[in-house]
Amino acid sequence: MTLENKELRELVRKAALLNAIQHDGKAQAGPIIGKIVGEKQELKTKVKELSGLISEVVEEVNSLSIEEQKRIVEKKWPEALKKEKVEEEKRLPALPNADNYAQVVTRFSPNPDCVLHLGSARAIILSHEYARIYKGKFILRFEDTDPKMKKPVLEFYDRIREDLNWLGCKIDEEYIQSDRIPIYYEYTEQLLKDGYAYVCTCQPEQFRKKTLASKPCSCRNLPVEEHLKRWKRMLEGGYAEGEAVVRVKTDLNHPNPAVRDWPALRVIDTEKYPHPRVGSKYRVWPLYNMAAGLDDHLMGITHIIRGKEHLTNMVRQEYMYKHLGWKYPEAIHYGRLKITGAYLSKSKIVQGIREGLYKGWDDPRLATFAALKKRGITPDAIKKMIIDVGPKTADVTLSWDNLYAYNRKILDPQSDRYFFVPEPIELKVKHVPKVFKAKLSLHPEKPERGFREYIVTPKDEDKAVDFWIAKKDADTADVGKVIRLMGLFNVKIEGTKAYSAEASFASEPYEEARKVKARLIHWILVGEDVPCQVIMPDATVNEGIAESACEKLKPNTVIQFERFGFVRVNETAAKLTAHYAHK
Ligand SMILES: [Zn+2]
Repeated sequence: MTLENKELRELVRKAALLNAIQHDGKAQAGPIIGKIVGEKQELKTKVKELSGLISEVVEEVNSLSIEEQKRIVEKKWPEALKKEKVEEEKRLPALPNADNYAQVVTRFSPNPDCVLHLGSARAIILSHEYARIYKGKFILRFEDTDPKMKKPVLEFYDRIREDLNWLGCKIDEEYIQSDRIPIYYEYTEQLLKDGYAYVCTCQPEQFRKKTLASKPCSCRNLPVEEHLKRWKRMLEGGYAEGEAVVRVKTDLNHPNPAVRDWPALRVIDTEKYPHPRVGSKYRVWPLYNMAAGLDDHLMGITHIIRGKEHLTNMVRQEYMYKHLGWKYPEAIHYGRLKITGAYLSKSKIVQGIREGLYKGWDDPRLATFAALKKRGITPDAIKKMIIDVGPKTADVTLSWDNLYAYNRKILDPQSDRYFFVPEPIELKVKHVPKVFKAKLSLHPEKPERGFREYIVTPKDEDKAVDFWIAKKDADTADVGKVIRLMGLFNVKIEGTKAYSAEASFASEPYEEARKVKARLIHWILVGEDVPCQVIMPDATVNEGIAESACEKLKPNTVIQFERFGFVRVNETAAKLTAHYAHK
């Protein structure tokens, strides 16, 4: 140990300083020993000597003020400070029993009968994030086995892939259940042969009466051969829709009647309701618990992360797992996450689109990922919000404003500032004494981002300059009041009419405006304007003009229109168009 004494001392010092910074300037020896031994396994046998060194260094470090401690770390190990910061960020709780598995495998399994919306964010992000944290695998599984009631739509397979990509959730493996029908048949046959499932041809009402009384239906106890015969008949088209269903045996005394002998496969007339991918190839289709239950095992899912509304499904599937001699994966059931006013059910979205109520999947009134993207809501904001909520079982209610707050934190430092004047009216400012050069920073805290510059030249004998200002600003400007044109000069209002206003130059310094508590308003020089429309979250359109510097903006750029809000530039070719994100 003596040989690398100096090197070791530095290592201890670094750990002590970092620990001190995290604990109000007072380092604790315990965690430092753990950290050092964790990094240098060979010191395991020398803990006693190490402890001596650590207490010595800790004492020395603790005699420094926290400012001094920080200064030393910043100078010597700036990257360590950054790392500590990242580690301070909210973390998800550990997965149960992750160590029992060679690799953590999670899945997200949507039905492609609609585009994804904010309501799916939790399942997607938690499943993906956990797979990433544990260096595991994240599987996308399309659950498209109901061509009748929850009919999948071809375009949504791709849209869902795109949405996941946008959210930054990399898919390691993908499966489509409609490709796997023969696999479900194979296990069904095995369950039938082993007497763990049966083909029930009872009328639903008849069956219901029996199960409610915890009694077997007239099919349940028939010999296996009879069920295999019925199964063959099902596959060959011998039963019409509703005439036969495969049931998985459970305890008929289970307290929840909905669990008892649950339906696993049924007949769908695919001549009438062809599947968009496999057409009329199959007439017998697995129901949710059959397909999802088998797949979770067959795909090696170790942790299922989903809403607590699935608890009963787990109970149902556990019977099938027992029949097959399988172990049920770890299951985490989180509580409901309600985002007030934020999303409609899938069926309402689909219906609204069909009826023409919404302009498309990215209509700003919808909380689809496509719409959020269009409005400049960043995937990172969604991700941060979901991770902060975590997988807790209690119900959580959030609002749009919660999401906006996360998004604002991301957009604010990176968005350039521009002026947009909604409902513009003309303001004539007279007696401007000279030519002014307005230098408006693109970002108030980041001068390195540059400026927009406008030359303000007085014209004619009354030395007048014409500006566009917002009608709202003109309406609140009383005659005789001084207002400041941001980044330019102060003017005194002389008169306002419905569509114009007049003022005269007052003074240049900002301090003068502050002294009289003048309002700061934004402006656009007449002649330096471009028409611009902003589409609001309620799909109304805010017509106005933007400053000419906006002409060079590219689609997809998110900017802040000062005193208006963050917007995402949508279109620049025909007419500058943007979608409103939030204040
Ligand atoms: Zn029956």
